[in-house]
Formats: sequence, C-alpha cells, structure tokens
Amino acid sequence: MINTKEIQAIDSAHYMHPFTDHKSLSDKGSRIITKADGIYIWDSTGEKILDAMSGLWCVNVGYGRKELVDAAAKQMLELPYYNSFFQTTNVPAVKLAEKIIKLAGDDYSHVFFSSSGSESNDTNVRMVRHYWATLGQPERTVIISRNNAYHGSTLVGSSLGGMGGMHAQGGMISGIEHIEQPYHYGMAPNQDRDAFGIEAAGWLEKKILEVGADKVAAFIGEPVQGAGGVIIPPKTYWPEIQRICDKYGILLICDEVICGFGRLGKWFGSQLLGCKPDLMTFAKGVTSGYIPLGGVVVGKRVAKVLIEQGGEFNHGYTYSGHPTACAVALANIEIMEREGLVDKVLNETGPYLAQKYAELAKHPLVGGAETLGLVAGFVLMKDKSNHVHFDEEVGVGMICRGHCFANGLIMRAVGDRMIIAPPLVITKVQIDEMVALIQKCLDATLADLKKQGIM
Ligand code: PMP
Repeated sequence: MINTKEIQAIDSAHYMHPFTDHKSLSDKGSRIITKADGIYIWDSTGEKILDAMSGLWCVNVGYGRKELVDAAAKQMLELPYYNSFFQTTNVPAVKLAEKIIKLAGDDYSHVFFSSSGSESNDTNVRMVRHYWATLGQPERTVIISRNNAYHGSTLVGSSLGGMGGMHAQGGMISGIEHIEQPYHYGMAPNQDRDAFGIEAAGWLEKKILEVGADKVAAFIGEPVQGAGGVIIPPKTYWPEIQRICDKYGILLICDEVICGFGRLGKWFGSQLLGCKPDLMTFAKGVTSGYIPLGGVVVGKRVAKVLIEQGGEFNHGYTYSGHPTACAVALANIEIMEREGLVDKVLNETGPYLAQKYAELAKHPLVGGAETLGLVAGFVLMKDKSNHVHFDEEVGVGMICRGHCFANGLIMRAVGDRMIIAPPLVITKVQIDEMVALIQKCLDATLADLKKQGIM
C-alpha cells in the first residue's frame, strides 16, 4: 500500500514537475497516480478517475495493453538499443518507417525518428533550413507560426509555439514569426465561419509579403490546436493555407503530435482537413504514450533534395530509431488497425461525441462547444447570449477543473476553455458516462459561482 503523505513529501522535496508552480503544489500535495486500465486511472487513495485527456493526449489504445508490454520485452531481450548513426540500422525502425509511410500516403517517402514532439520540431527547423540552403536559397530561414500554437518545450519548440509565458522565460531563437490563430468563436463569433477561415488564412499571405517571400522557409501549424485549447479551424482554413504556401513555394509543416494516429478519425489530421504538408511532426499516439517516440514524416519534395543533393544532415539523437520504442509503435499500430480504431472515431464515436456535445451546449455556462473526431472543447461563458466572458481573475477554468478533480474526471482547463481528448477505445456507453460527469461538474461549477456571487 502506498503511503500518500510520505510520497507527497518526497515529491515536494525532490521532484521538479513540468509546467508547475511548485510553491502552490507543495502546499496542496501532488495527486499520486498508481495504476490504470482502459480509459480509467486510479490514485493512491483508491479513487477511480475517468481520464478524458488520454494522459497527455497520447494513450490512444487505452491503458493496460499487455501486447505493448510483450513487444517491448521481446525487443529488449533481443536488441534493447542500438543507434543508427554509423551506417547501421535495426529491423523495428526500418519496419516502422515503412509502415508510417504507408499510412501517410504516396506523397511521403521517409521518416526521421526522435523521442518527442519537441525534438521532432527541432528537426523540422534544421531540416527546412538545410533544404533551402541545399537549393541555393540559404536566406530562406524564416518560419511562420501562430499565436497560441504549441510546438514543444525545447527552445526551438517554444519559439515556434505562440505561448507568451514560454517566450518570457529563456527567450526565443531568431527567424520565427507569428500570425493570429483561426479562433472563430473567440475572435469573430458573428462572422460567417467559412469566410473567417479564408480571412484567417490570409494573415499568412500578409506575413509572407511583410517578411519577403524569398526569406520564408516554411509555415507550421497544428491541424487542430491542442494545448492552446482545442481550437478547431473553419473547414476553409487549411485548403487556403495550402494554396498560399503553394503560391509562394513555401514548405508546409503540420504538427500532428496530437492529431496524428487517429485522433481526428484519419491517420493524420491533415488527411481530414484538406492539405498535404511537406513535413508532419508526430509523437504521442504513435506508441500510445507507452514509451517515448516521435519523429518527422518527410514528403518526397524534401526527401528528394536532402537525399540526392543534401550531403550530410548534421542532426540526430542518441535515441533516433530506438528499437524498443519502434517495436512498441509497430504493436500499437497493429492494435489500432485490428480494432479499426481510426474508422471507429470517424464513423462512430466521433459523431456520437459531437451529438452529446450539442446537448451539452445547452448548459448555461457552455459557449462555443465543438468537437472533431475525439477532441472537443467549449468556453465557460458568464453570459453566453451576449457573448460575455468571465473576468480573468475569476479563474473560472480552474474552478471547473477543481470540480472535475473532485468528481473523478480528468478534463483540462486552458484559460476559460475546457477540453477533452479521450482514448480512442472509448465506447458510446463510456462517452455517456463521460458527458454525464462533465454535466455534473458544470452544475457544480455553476452552483459554486452563484455561491461566490460571481453569477
Ligand atoms: N507539438 C504539439 C502539437 C504538442 O501538442 C506537443 C505536446 N503537447 C508537442 C509538440 C511537444 O511534444 P513533447 O512534449 O513530446 O516534446
């Protein structure tokens, strides 16, 4: 039996958590997660919690999959590790690269492996700059991204990202420009959604012209922004972004770290949203989070130049093509294929969640409820009929998250947006259970706000 207080004390004394205010965490004590199965996790007090965030958007096949454990164990006994630096390779990495290219489609030919989304985006920056330098255009270095984007926490990842709080700590690398995000409900709720999508994509063209097209290497974006609060762009957005990138010959990078591997009901989000990126970042769902693995799917346009003319690409990680991680990824993809999880999201659970969220939208606190596949979000609104938000100091997202914590539900708060991304194995019955819990937490939040005199 775990001694909760003792582990909390050691946690507080020695363990530095990511994205955490340690002073306030120490006062409260961390919640100790001890085991997991399917879509549920348990804490050290024995409480069962529905994990509507799939860990951190990654446990796509759910917890407790022995097949993944067996794949890791088998590979570890055979060849736990070897690198691919010195004209060597390994079977799981080769097979996984081949498999990912099959899933990505005919426009892609190669995969570069890393261990995380952040490292993969570092790879993208070096790869696109190397690409243009190889083509004799070394001045093409600028990468355009978006405000409120999330591309990782290394200095390159955070520079690409559009999170002011991250830029303020540690600075930014040079050559990154940002445009506004395509957040229809937050920016232009009264404008026609499709027209807003075209307008928002047009901000890219404006920025290209401002920087000078001959200086721009690439545009990067998440098909659906995740950590920024599940911002689902209008359907006109990505085709228009593609058109603009094509017009100026600029490379398109889709950061598929969340959207890839089935989250939106296709293997990659861009396959649903109508664009064909030159590079796709992946991580998380490729192994369902059981072991760290990430990478970049490289389109033929880039691969051809790098392979035929690029010489040595001075880039790589100790764990690039890690055999054990790749073996787990292969087993994970096999499960997803066998259980038809991607189609299930597209045709069954995704539409069902959309239907449930349409009902949830009637709640007095819920504004702008939207889903796509198995991601969903809404905004907690003070007076939604007049589009009035809560004051920031109310911290309404945190109040709601507190009620989720207390009621056995993991739902994430991003400012006043409440977001979910449940495991892709979630059933319709479990969606009912999840949405009933969300409803309960919203009711508790509303009662709390009334009691405090905020509403
Ligand atoms: N890109 C996106 C779109 C992400 O959501 C994340 C992580 N949430 C990352 C990159 C960074 O991935 P990692 O934390 O594995 O470095």
